[in-house]
Amino acid sequence: MKTLHAVAAKDPHENRSPLSPESIGKLSNMGIKITADKGIALRSGFTDESLVQAGAQVGELGEGTAFADIIIRIAKPTQEDLDALEPGTLHISFLDPFNEKDLIQKLADKKISAISMEMIPRSTLAQKMDALSSQANLAGYFSVVKAAETLGKVLPMMMTPSGTIAPAKVFVIGVGVAGLQAIATAKRMGAQVQAFDTRPEVEEQVQSIGGKFLKIDLGETGQTEQGYAKELSPEQIIKQKEGMKKACSQSDIVITTAKLFGRPAPTLVDADMLAVMKRGSVVVDLAVETGGNVEGSVLNETVENENGVKIIGLANLEGQVAKDASSMLAANFANLIEHFWDKDQGLVKLNPEDEVLRECLITHEGAVVHERFKEETLK
Ligand code: NAD
Repeated sequence: MKTLHAVAAKDPHENRSPLSPESIGKLSNMGIKITADKGIALRSGFTDESLVQAGAQVGELGEGTAFADIIIRIAKPTQEDLDALEPGTLHISFLDPFNEKDLIQKLADKKISAISMEMIPRSTLAQKMDALSSQANLAGYFSVVKAAETLGKVLPMMMTPSGTIAPAKVFVIGVGVAGLQAIATAKRMGAQVQAFDTRPEVEEQVQSIGGKFLKIDLGETGQTEQGYAKELSPEQIIKQKEGMKKACSQSDIVITTAKLFGRPAPTLVDADMLAVMKRGSVVVDLAVETGGNVEGSVLNETVENENGVKIIGLANLEGQVAKDASSMLAANFANLIEHFWDKDQGLVKLNPEDEVLRECLITHEGAVVHERFKEETLK
């Protein structure tokens, strides 16, 4: 495999690109021939000319799909996209595999080797390919920017002849990649930051970037082998809500990032907690796409409750800083492909035993090969 085609996003709200001039440079230096859909990176700030200069050929939409060994795109393929794929193609994209049983079967039936970007392992080796992290980092940053823009108050303390302004209080729930970046960004902007996570080991990380860790005793919590949080019991969720209610009532901004990998997000900020929040305060629900952490958050909308609290439910916040998001995402794709590059033969070669591929290859040679998505596992 040594030809690659990058497909432009069909979603008009998707500003990101899976290809950047830099990633084209890297892949073509390895010997890969690259084609891309016209205008693929325009919304992320890269012109077609810059892609051509870097070494890609740019053509009409969909033109290159049938001729490339490797297809990269951001979103999962539609039926029409699937129809255009040739058997044997390596297809790399986000796949939403936990919710796309039928799509996975179709990819297998069509003999596509499908890699799911969500399933890239959380290992040191795979860090440079980890698109969930690269994008969560930017979403965490932008959640603070968006909240600051929506809040009718400044974040830093200001001492002026006209009066002293107290710093804004920010409460971050969930301290994974996005949460840590939200804490760091809010601190840089001068806010007072408090945070909570069910994994107690993040306390030190919160403190190291200047935040205060809210302690709530939930008893046994734990995490999966991959470092993801385990689901709490209903009693633990009640305890957690009681512990967080006071923090919410004192905060100007609450940012929730608490996800559960492959499962719906837990509702953590309920109507009872929203009712004690200050008029004009802002809540950003970064888990809105997987069901939401905040009662009443609406996907891709900002809603204001009767209490005057604004709840921001925008998905794909990283797409609001599309240039950096695309550069990172394109680097993740290119690093993944580089990992499978066989220098001696000058082509991409899949070794299903490889420690990265074992985790993220979902279908291969006509079968569902990933243990978690095989028919018997799904039942
Ligand atoms: P995520 O997006 O799945 O969840 C965000 C955060 O929400 C997590 O910290 C989780 O513990 C927390 N959470 C879940 N339920 C909660 C609840 N009820 N209340 C409060 N918080 C709750 O997480 P993520 O950003 O993907 O990171 C998961 C872990 O993986 C972290 O430990 C992260 O540091 C680690 N990680 C490791 C690597 C690597 O080693 N290469 C890369 C990325 C992430």
